[in-house]
Amino acid sequence: MSHDVLVVGETLIDCIPERPGPLEDVAGFDRRPGGAPANVAVALARLAEPPLFWTRVGDDPFGRYLERALVDHGLPDRFLERDSTAQTTLAFVTHDETGEREFTFYRDGTADTRLESGRIDDATLADCEWVHAGGVTLSSGSSRAATLDLLERAAAADCTVSFDPNLRSELWPDEGTVATVVGDALAHVDVCLATGPELEALGYEGESATALARAAVEEGPVHTAFVTRGAAGAVAVADADAPWGGAAVEHPGFAVDAVDTTGAGDAFVAGVIAALRDGDDLEGTVTFANAVGARATTDRGGMTALPTRAEVAALLEGE
Ligand code: ADP
Repeated sequence: MSHDVLVVGETLIDCIPERPGPLEDVAGFDRRPGGAPANVAVALARLAEPPLFWTRVGDDPFGRYLERALVDHGLPDRFLERDSTAQTTLAFVTHDETGEREFTFYRDGTADTRLESGRIDDATLADCEWVHAGGVTLSSGSSRAATLDLLERAAAADCTVSFDPNLRSELWPDEGTVATVVGDALAHVDVCLATGPELEALGYEGESATALARAAVEEGPVHTAFVTRGAAGAVAVADADAPWGGAAVEHPGFAVDAVDTTGAGDAFVAGVIAALRDGDDLEGTVTFANAVGARATTDRGGMTALPTRAEVAALLEGE
């Protein structure tokens, strides 16, 4: 089977507390496969064709569990790496008093910080039409240079390059490094997908989601920017360089009974990639991606709640 999309980034264990409250008071956790790029890759497998996925886990029980989960979701094992000298990353996801998610990472020198440049050969890139990466592997270790190198070579190979900054300040040494490294990455990116606060943290200014998306596109080289707004849907702005044409669209999202928003942003990213590759215009793409994101909130779990195309179609028919 040919794989036209390559996704790169972390796969990790999300440890979900059995009940809300501060981490020090939680006695038990559920173990779930996670990592934003891993969720995007699995979401694409459920919506369209399984993409290639380049990731690295430890050769430990957690890593073997993650690898099995990825393969069970239909992803090819060609670029699933096992590191015999590093452990698998753990992330503990809790909520503060306002309901905002807080992350505690066990990620010092773990396997997903140890991707190495050059693993993806030129022939593989030449066969790919689309490459997607996230910001977490830019934060530390050899994965930073490996991710930057892949984005640069993907752009040179004329792939469409998409990027979700997925900023987790806990993982970065300081704000200056974030701005510099993510700025270096964005130089190779065509399509940026982010939240408003993430774009502000990267230095873009705007009073609204649309103004922030416009700022990202006007400053270039990104030609298309999507800004998600949780239950309020998403906006997108593309300039005339975009293959799908210049446009600015807003969609208010879909009213659903949300039970768990983990992975909604990743589902949205997969919805965008699937729709644009199907030849949809920007308006159709935002509508479809909002439906994918909304449907992903209606079941518990990140990866396990990602919808099939039929489930998304059912939600769209009700619009
Ligand atoms: P992230 O998960 O990256 O923080 P958002 O919370 O903005 O991103 O969610 C991404 C997308 O998922 C939204 O643009 C929307 O389409 C969908 N979504 C998220 N939360 C809800 C919700 N409560 N109801 C309906 N759709 C939602």
